[in-house]
Amino acid sequence: MAGGTDLPVKTTLVQSWEELEHKPGAYVITEQADGKKGFIISCPKCGIYASSSSGHTVEVEEPLTVSPSFICPHKPCDAHYFVKNGEIQLL
Ligand SMILES: [Zn+2]
Repeated sequence: MAGGTDLPVKTTLVQSWEELEHKPGAYVITEQADGKKGFIISCPKCGIYASSSSGHTVEVEEPLTVSPSFICPHKPCDAHYFVKNGEIQLL
């Protein structure tokens, strides 16, 4: 009976990265050096934010969709998730 972490988490667009911390699912859109869109998202599991890499394709029109799946870089958090149609689905 572990508590609900595999339920979908809604993503929420915020205006600055200062608003991301400890707000699971919050994200901001960024522009990367190569002109591609990226994002910084607050991990649905640990609440620490991380940015997408250039290997991610980001559909910035809401609802947010990102591919491929995303792995939280903050050890020991092991969150591995998809973002699709504005929802985060943990694997
Ligand atoms: Zn995490």
